[in-house]
Amino acid sequence: MSDSIRRHDARAVASMRAAHQGISDNIQSLAEVRQELEMLRRVVRTMVYAQVSGEALALHEDPVSTWLGLPVGATPEQAMERLLRTQAKVVGTSACPSCGAQIQDLEGIANEQCQWCGARLEQEG
Ligand SMILES: [Zn+2]
Repeated sequence: MSDSIRRHDARAVASMRAAHQGISDNIQSLAEVRQELEMLRRVVRTMVYAQVSGEALALHEDPVSTWLGLPVGATPEQAMERLLRTQAKVVGTSACPSCGAQIQDLEGIANEQCQWCGARLEQEG
């Protein structure tokens, strides 16, 4: 076998491996989207049930708490704070007092937390 054919075969194999990896990545992404969709379905079902039954939607309980990214055992107050953060308008940025990273100032939120080091900004929302 000539060197030229060997090089060509090696390129073909590398190309097939890359294509296979791409397909694997797509399958993984699809599985993640399906999980997200199932969570949203559960949240919507819970919201519709709360609406129809006249019960208050429990933000700190599954599935809404999971959707909000809250830890297990979060309080209703923590859930409300998290929800307000997701809805708050960004009105500017401030430097983190601890690590110097730029932190978004959220309207109506008094003590934003640095997403990098966890320090709290002490200021008016
Ligand atoms: Zn920081």
